[in-house]
Amino acid sequence: MTDSYVEINLSRLTNNVKAILEKYPDYRSYIGVVKGDAYGHGMRAVKALHNGGLRYFAVSSLEEAKELRSFNTHVPVLCLEPVAIDRLSEAADLDLTLGIPDIEYLRAMLENDVKHSFKVHLQVDSGFGRLGFKDKGEIKEAVKLINDSGHFLEGIYQHFATAGIFDPHYDNQISKFKELTSLIDLDEIPMVHLGSGVSLLAHPKIDIATATRMGLVMYGYNIGPTSYGNGVKDRLRDLRDRRNQRKYNLTETIRDVQLDLSPAMSYKCRILQIKDVNAGEYVGYNAEYQAQELISIAVLPVGYNNGIGHANYGRVVEINGKRYPIIGEIGMNMCCVKIDNRVKLTDTVTLLGGGISLGRFSRSSGLGLAEILLGIGKNNERVYIK
Ligand SMILES: *Cc1c(COP(=O)(O)O)cnc(C)c1O
Repeated sequence: MTDSYVEINLSRLTNNVKAILEKYPDYRSYIGVVKGDAYGHGMRAVKALHNGGLRYFAVSSLEEAKELRSFNTHVPVLCLEPVAIDRLSEAADLDLTLGIPDIEYLRAMLENDVKHSFKVHLQVDSGFGRLGFKDKGEIKEAVKLINDSGHFLEGIYQHFATAGIFDPHYDNQISKFKELTSLIDLDEIPMVHLGSGVSLLAHPKIDIATATRMGLVMYGYNIGPTSYGNGVKDRLRDLRDRRNQRKYNLTETIRDVQLDLSPAMSYKCRILQIKDVNAGEYVGYNAEYQAQELISIAVLPVGYNNGIGHANYGRVVEINGKRYPIIGEIGMNMCCVKIDNRVKLTDTVTLLGGGISLGRFSRSSGLGLAEILLGIGKNNERVYIK
């Protein structure tokens, strides 16, 4: 076993997808987003996700699509980012579904002489301000151009900039999407997909949506909003939310969604050395940490080379079910934790998973959920278990 390793539990991925599809049965298709090497889980995850019932996937690039095809040669795959025109033949070989960001791209694609009938999805910029059409006339023109070509307009979609937890931007994006597609017949497009995992969990189904995309949730994280507590501040927040909801006529927010999910990824390592540090002695670069009394530390073989960067300073790890803090500056390949005499050199340290939830990791490091999974999942040896 390597000094540190990421453990990916494949049956959890399968079960997560089953639980989601069972809970949200009202879509014609479900698109599993496996960009970023399946959020650090590795493209091998696609098989397990497929076993759970997913029949469509989305990636960011040709490179990711190639990797995916080494695990599944047939499942439809949407490339969320536009494939470079001079590489369309590679997209054809991989039988990719193309995301179309604007009319210029579409024209260039149609003029290209690749002998392949592509499935395409139009991207609509309804307020995210990134990829996509912003003009309803151009959307109408695009639909006509595609329908007159040998290609197939299979889908149309947008991406939300916010979770819509009492912010008007979410609803504004839905209205804008409807306005931008008002000159075309959405019923003639099989897949209309507007949101990602958080919109699935936090809001009622959007009336025009016939498909949905999801990322984090299928890897095992319930990213839906939870209820506020009972404190005075919490009750004030709740009042403010209700007032805003009425005032701006906002979409309902669903809290505390019950969904049987288990995180598939955990990150573990062995201990390199255990030693005492006397009162007054320092630990780590810049002599940043000074022991106030006699303490014991364990030196771990993980650092920013493993996705455990500076932001993790002060975070906790778990050894034999007990939490211990990371102390001192984190190096490229090592960091230290303050331990007690229950810890032995042969113990396994858990840095993510078990009692160290992704949410806890995120709150104490200030890193985003997907950012943590990528940092750890892509920079370490992965071990797959069933
Ligand atoms: C990453 C991504 C998703 C998945 O988002 P999650 O928040 O992980 O569910 C969906 N759609 C698009 C366009 C994305 O880029």
